[in-house]
Amino acid sequence: MTKKSKVGSTGRYGARYGLKIRRRVLSIERLSRKKHKCPYCSRLRVKRLSSGIFECSKCSSKFTGRAYTYDG
Ligand SMILES: [Zn+2]
Repeated sequence: MTKKSKVGSTGRYGARYGLKIRRRVLSIERLSRKKHKCPYCSRLRVKRLSSGIFECSKCSSKFTGRAYTYDG
């Protein structure tokens, strides 16, 4: 079995920028990519479109939140 990488989405940075900073980026990117709860239909279907903009794939409403996460 091969060893599974733990760098996740920050693997694109290779060995650059330092481990501590890459880990901070990883935790934020994990938060921003997970599904958020919709404030209108309260389903976990909200996806981040860009900084601060979120869209629900169920009721297709678009709204603003925080830059990386949405607290409904
Ligand atoms: Zn919705």
